[in-house]
Amino acid sequence: MPGRILVVDDVATNRLILKAKLAAAYYDVLEADCGQAAFDSARTEQPDVILLDIMMPDMDGYTVCEMLKANPETSHIPVVMVTASSAPKERIRGLSVGADDFLVKPINDMALFARVRNLLRVKMMFDELKLRDTTSRELGLPEFLESFDEDALPKDTVMLAPASKLQGEVWRSEISKMPGVEILGTCDEHEALNMARLEEPDAIIVHQRHIEDGDSLRLISAMRARPETRQAVMIYVVSDGAIETAANALDLGASDYVLEPFEPEELTIRLRTQLRRKHHSDKLRSNMRDGLKMAVIDPLTGLYNRRYATQHMQKIVNRARDSESEFAVMMLDLDNFKRINDIQGHEAGDMVLQEFSHRIQENVRGVDLVARMGGEEFLVVMPDAGAMVAKHVSERLRRAVNSKPFVTKAGEEINITVSIGVAIGKPSDDEPEKLVKCADQALYEAKAGGRDLVSFHEAA
Ligand code: GH3
Ligand code: MG
Ligand code: MG
Repeated sequence: MPGRILVVDDVATNRLILKAKLAAAYYDVLEADCGQAAFDSARTEQPDVILLDIMMPDMDGYTVCEMLKANPETSHIPVVMVTASSAPKERIRGLSVGADDFLVKPINDMALFARVRNLLRVKMMFDELKLRDTTSRELGLPEFLESFDEDALPKDTVMLAPASKLQGEVWRSEISKMPGVEILGTCDEHEALNMARLEEPDAIIVHQRHIEDGDSLRLISAMRARPETRQAVMIYVVSDGAIETAANALDLGASDYVLEPFEPEELTIRLRTQLRRKHHSDKLRSNMRDGLKMAVIDPLTGLYNRRYATQHMQKIVNRARDSESEFAVMMLDLDNFKRINDIQGHEAGDMVLQEFSHRIQENVRGVDLVARMGGEEFLVVMPDAGAMVAKHVSERLRRAVNSKPFVTKAGEEINITVSIGVAIGKPSDDEPEKLVKCADQALYEAKAGGRDLVSFHEAA
């Protein structure tokens, strides 16, 4: 995994040592020798991870971290504080200004690399999501939820998998201080897996001794692999004091770890940082889903649009060939629709289009494709339907429109009719566009014949 790492330290020897280690593992290394240089380099170079010294002459690492996190250009870059002291107070201070982790000098290689790998994975996932988000915007899809409103977030569910009931109580009382958090928990390994699957928690905290023989890492990797918990925050509580265990946990999918003994506050701060990150990527993911949806759905009627219909028709054509069955293609066009806009107004016109969509959907089967091809032109494709069925359904659609007036918001009744052109696809037909064209020709004949008519293409 390639990555660019910014090493910040006022002492050249310290930078050199870190640089040598990282370069040996094929990372690109940037350097900065003071807080201001670090901030500038982070903005212009956009490194993937920042290793930040705390004691520096111009400003300390806490201040630099605060500046980085406050600036939208750099707030997404993970920061690891490098410190000479392992005092809990310092850890808590660093974590509360937004640092992702701490490494204590002299730096343990295993801890360093496991953390760098973990942060690079997170950063790359973010970059990818952001890229897709940008692409959907560039495609002209609406901008969703520009601002990220943390107050409006839903409740988070945190699941505890402690070593003992008592420990569970201690964790619970600390975590319950966080607002908007619901807490579940169990000391039983199998129950934990079940609970995680059923409740789909946002975060899971697992103690190393949750499983008797201490092999609770397999719980982490199992939950990371499952679809229900793939995106969950997982924090591993390391009790054997071994940094190797912590490094292993990160590599197996833990988002973060805490080494025992720790101040209870450290757990909640780490949890909060991880949850904030999860909310952000959840939002990007759902933006993307909405964006994809918007690409195929007509916003006025909620029907599929032309783009989707064209794609999907190819599938219907292929299936008809495989099952040697016929299918019906109908083009529907409202008669004299322009007049409604002109007389009742555009808004009434929109409402008619929506009501018309409802009436179509009520009169076709679930398997039939209904799409708005543009303006007041709609397409219905019925798999497994020959001329007899098509005749029956198209007449039903025509009557569904002319038998009952459309009522505007103002209470005005409008009588509307529709013209329908029908073409029948054979198993040998392999070009959906051609069938749409045939249905279009038939539609033209229905218009020419006086409107409020169904017309079949001659081949049918
Ligand atoms: P014909 O019977 O020959 O189909 O006549 P028509 O008036 O229905 O057809 P024409 O193509 O002349 O006019 C279609 C009108 O549909 C023109 C356009 O303003 C209107 N229209 C297209 N899309 C929308 C829309 O989204 N909302 C509204 N209110 N009107 C639309
Ligand atoms: Mg220093
Ligand atoms: Mg029309």
